[in-house]
Amino acid sequence: MNTDTIVAAATPPGRGGIGIVRLSGPQVSRIGVAMVGELPAARFASPRTFLEADGGALDHGLALYFVAPHSFTGEDVLELHGHGSPVVLESLVARAVQLGARRALPGEFTQRAYLNDKLDLAQAEAVADLIDAGSRAAARAALRSLQGEFSARVHALLQGLIELRVHVEAAIDFPEEEIDFLADAQLLARLAQVRALHAALTTSAVQGRLLREGMTVVIAGRPNAGKSTLLNALAGHAAAIVSEHAGTTRDLLRERIDLDGMPLHVIDTAGLRAPGEDIGPVEMEGMRRAREQLQQADRLLFVIDGAMDPQAHAYDEERARLPPGLPVTLLLNKRDLMPQVPAAQSEPPRLSISAATGAGLDDLRAHLRATMGYAGEETGQLSARGRHVAALQACRAHVDSAAASLAAKQGELVAEELRLAQRALGEITGEFDSDELLGRIFSSFCIGK
Ligand code: GDP
Repeated sequence: MNTDTIVAAATPPGRGGIGIVRLSGPQVSRIGVAMVGELPAARFASPRTFLEADGGALDHGLALYFVAPHSFTGEDVLELHGHGSPVVLESLVARAVQLGARRALPGEFTQRAYLNDKLDLAQAEAVADLIDAGSRAAARAALRSLQGEFSARVHALLQGLIELRVHVEAAIDFPEEEIDFLADAQLLARLAQVRALHAALTTSAVQGRLLREGMTVVIAGRPNAGKSTLLNALAGHAAAIVSEHAGTTRDLLRERIDLDGMPLHVIDTAGLRAPGEDIGPVEMEGMRRAREQLQQADRLLFVIDGAMDPQAHAYDEERARLPPGLPVTLLLNKRDLMPQVPAAQSEPPRLSISAATGAGLDDLRAHLRATMGYAGEETGQLSARGRHVAALQACRAHVDSAAASLAAKQGELVAEELRLAQRALGEITGEFDSDELLGRIFSSFCIGK
């Protein structure tokens, strides 16, 4: 159990109608009495004067008291709802510190909720995901995970693994019958069931991670191909300067676009000049940055002026200099100027668009969703993170090994692989947590959460 009492502003920095300071820990009632006089009845918002050390008023507002374990953190909690002034809020925090509280670390309120079994790890992460959600779909998915839907499905899978383990461990304990036990149809049926649950959960988790993390595409191509026009068309507003002078975009421009709920991070780069062209140092630096971005992108949108270069020679020239393995989509732009619209092609996929008129952009959006395997805004999505998908993959690898050992009738190995599969899965909800993992997760929160 934690022995210290923590305090932080729970509302974001800045000015607002209301600002909230939250305290949690065993000293809350003592510090609370010193700050507001008599504590209000639990869960009843009551008007109070928030007091200075000398008894003067710091602010007037509402005090809300929660008694352990019936609070977000599972500890005694006091919320002071004052005016949303950074000066007032800081004075309240400082006064609580004077009375013995400590300033909270990032994510520490949620961490205490986790440590006191109010939330599991996946739910704690969903708190941060809900706060950070960039679209309604992402917010809905985070809320579903927060309410425990994701955790419940992880638990169902864990339960399936445990039952399998029990069956296999029993077989090992009766060596004379082990072979028969392992060949049992019921065991194979259970294994198949676990695999089906795993597959469905992985699909949801991959969708959930896409909702949270989205897709990063880099727009590149020769100067004047229409890259900035494309960025503006996708963003729906003028993010980039469009000009007929080549080399206008010299630095990187980033836009976050909502693609049916999936965040699409688009990075517009300085044009990649043809080899041997003479350019200045600023543009040279822009091109270096463009190439750097390419290393981290999910996909490159290579824009070509289709009116000038319908055969896409620019791409052929550039190809050898692109990072190997980076997926590419060729966009033949300025379709409105082309005498005939070229047919779409695969390898690499080739779409014709007009960034200026918007023609073909719906196809481009659908293409981007499809390349990431994003199913669109459907009901029932859950928020998930890369960490969860990795844990599911690790679990899958152990289940596969267990199946192979089962086929080879090696009971001990089956049992060991199932144990490892259970362990990998347990990392999602925090059943098998390590301090290092917890530190990594909660330090990414903001203070006051
Ligand atoms: P960038 O250098 O690749 O970023 O190219 P810009 O987006 O600045 O566009 C270069 C020029 O091409 C500008 O004059 C644009 O208005 C024009 N342009 C871009 N896309 C289209 C298009 O689809 N059709 C036509 N007709 N002009 C376009």
